[in-house]
Amino acid sequence: MKIYEKAPAKINLSLDVLYKRDDGYHEVEMVMTMVDLADRIEMQELPRDTIIISSQAGYIPLDEKNLAFQAAKLIKDRYEVKQGVYIHLDKKIPVAAGLAGGSSDAAATLRGLNKLWRLNISNEELKKLGEELGSDVPFCVTGGTAVARGRGEKLEAIDSPPQCWVILAKPAINVSTSEIYGKLVARDIQNHPNTALLLQAIREKNFELLCENLGNVLEEVTIKLYPEVRQLKDVMQRLGADGVLMSGSGPTVFGLVSKESKVARIFNGLRGFCKDVYAVRLLT
Ligand code: ATP
Repeated sequence: MKIYEKAPAKINLSLDVLYKRDDGYHEVEMVMTMVDLADRIEMQELPRDTIIISSQAGYIPLDEKNLAFQAAKLIKDRYEVKQGVYIHLDKKIPVAAGLAGGSSDAAATLRGLNKLWRLNISNEELKKLGEELGSDVPFCVTGGTAVARGRGEKLEAIDSPPQCWVILAKPAINVSTSEIYGKLVARDIQNHPNTALLLQAIREKNFELLCENLGNVLEEVTIKLYPEVRQLKDVMQRLGADGVLMSGSGPTVFGLVSKESKVARIFNGLRGFCKDVYAVRLLT
């Protein structure tokens, strides 16, 4: 038997850090949603009790460092599954980009193996397992749109934002999430996003208000290290995107665009500037 799962990329409509906790983690408040750019994951039973990962992407680990491997191992150990599995990752989401590609693969693996091995694990339990794999994994288990608090694991599902185009552009650099959080000084943050207004915009499906209230406190930190992120934001704004923000710890910058007539111009303009550009829709 074979199972296929889609693992979509997430973007942060907001990312706020409230304070640094005594346990070393940052207390965050973020609004996350998914876009129609996805890895495709194929899972197939193996007669031998082993986990094998393959991928067409030459640039990700295929051993126990792969998050899909870790997800499979976790579910096997916890539910004492003695069967093996072959997992193929067809990567479409750029890696180390701030789009939670690895986390989404891990979540899709949890969902897929739950079906393949008929384990009947509830979504709540899958999210708990996901927490052990990474802060973004619980959100990726159910997707949709959510406010995440705590270190990202406390989720409140909310309405979808108004439908629009999302243009994603990733400069040719890889950013380490832990490095960016490591350089952030929570008490020095001057510009916190207005999450309440952003949530109001989503509730009211008010696209303009949504664009005005995008915000990410990690932008400043990443831009200091990689000024090309600032340039990319400026280019996207000049080309006419309605709202522009860096996702996660970067370096991917996304632009929200309501009018389809503007999409091709912005997309082509960005292609002259960087190689990794995508025009997709929100997954609402
Ligand atoms: P986040 O937004 O959650 O911080 P990201 O988009 O910045 O995630 P990923 O694409 O998840 O980052 O990759 C981060 C690291 O994880 C990379 O160094 C990569 O080698 C490793 N990794 C492990 N498993 C995977 C996977 N299945 N897909 C992509 N990267 C993976």
